[in-house]
Amino acid sequence: MIRHMPHEDHGPAHGWDLHCHTVYSDGTKTPAEMIASAVASGLHGLAITDHDTTAGWADAAAAARRAGLPILRGTEITAADGDISVHMLAYQYDPDNTAITELFRATRAARLERAKRMVARLSEDFPIDWHSVLRQAKQGEKTTVGRPHMADALVEAGVYATRSEAFAGVISGASKYYIPTPSPSTDEVVRTVREAGGVSVIAHPGDRGRNTTLLGDGRIRALAGEGLGGLEVWHRGNADDQRRRLLGLADELGLLVTGGSDWHGAGKPNRLGENLTGDATVREIVARGAIEVVG
Ligand code: AMP
Ligand code: ZN
Ligand code: FE
Ligand code: FE
Repeated sequence: MIRHMPHEDHGPAHGWDLHCHTVYSDGTKTPAEMIASAVASGLHGLAITDHDTTAGWADAAAAARRAGLPILRGTEITAADGDISVHMLAYQYDPDNTAITELFRATRAARLERAKRMVARLSEDFPIDWHSVLRQAKQGEKTTVGRPHMADALVEAGVYATRSEAFAGVISGASKYYIPTPSPSTDEVVRTVREAGGVSVIAHPGDRGRNTTLLGDGRIRALAGEGLGGLEVWHRGNADDQRRRLLGLADELGLLVTGGSDWHGAGKPNRLGENLTGDATVREIVARGAIEVVG
């Protein structure tokens, strides 16, 4: 059954922003700055979801307690489904679970190798090097290094004016300098998050800007059978036709429907709280998860 009430096309007007990045990956703000902004804009709560890490959780929890703003703790996990690059949000899992700790360790090691190789290629033609890229990682070794840090180094060197321009240029997935990130499969991520007691959600599944080929209905049905928890429908990358498709799948498969801004501070135009998840859905995620809400 496809829901098509027009007011549902943009998700809830009040609630939680369940997709936010900080300096622990490629966002430009600290968890404390993020939480202060969320309080100022009246969000009910948010989730910290840095790429492939839990490194920001302790900072975020401390800031949430100080501010009295409830937060979920999560991660945006880089995965692959055949040739398709898929981002998966994972919430409220046990961060000490061995399987998930090992998954992050392997991904982060692979990411570091990939980043070094890509920077070596770029440095042949542009005035950047590994040192100037690492300088962009605001939390040193704790930061998950990726293309945004290469973009920032190119901006610092005067090659581009903004991060977005670098992404449209030599950092793009179509560039001859590009190297993909070796990633765990979507099946492995769903299984591991489930084992760690968390809830997995496919991030921006209808974003044609990221993938010319999107994850198909058949694969989403299969992942739902393996324990996938939800779909991030309310995200600026999902066009209206995709939102309708994803709502239909969520209804059919009993998946949660979430929303998030994909805020990166000054690193992207996305505004904190521009897409939200309803309170009832957040309560369900918390009920299924292995850890407490903090704040
Ligand atoms: P990587 O995982 O290292 O390939 O880098 C991809 C990350 O870069 C994504 O997860 C986004 O957070 C970020 N990103 C992608 N496109 C842009 C853009 N146009 N401007 C800023 N950040 C971007
Ligand atoms: Zn990011
Ligand atoms: Fe993403
Ligand atoms: Fe993201």
